[in-house]
Amino acid sequence: MGLYVSPDGNYGDSEGLVVIDNDNFDEHFYNYLEFLSDWLTPDYAKWFEDNDHNFEENPDSSISECLVCEEWIESQR
Ligand SMILES: [Zn+2]
Repeated sequence: MGLYVSPDGNYGDSEGLVVIDNDNFDEHFYNYLEFLSDWLTPDYAKWFEDNDHNFEENPDSSISECLVCEEWIESQR
């Protein structure tokens, strides 16, 4: 068991914590972070870092969905 403490005052359980390079991430990455179940977000962030991509809209969906991200999310179910 570990604890993370960050300079912005946040702290918490460090288990499963990931730190990634988000230099090139666009807005849709952050939208998905909000939308995903908490337990999925570290894996998603890690995956996104390795598969950095621009938003690819799903034309068949009424809400804003990224085809690349949706495929990954499906693979996690
Ligand atoms: Zn995406």
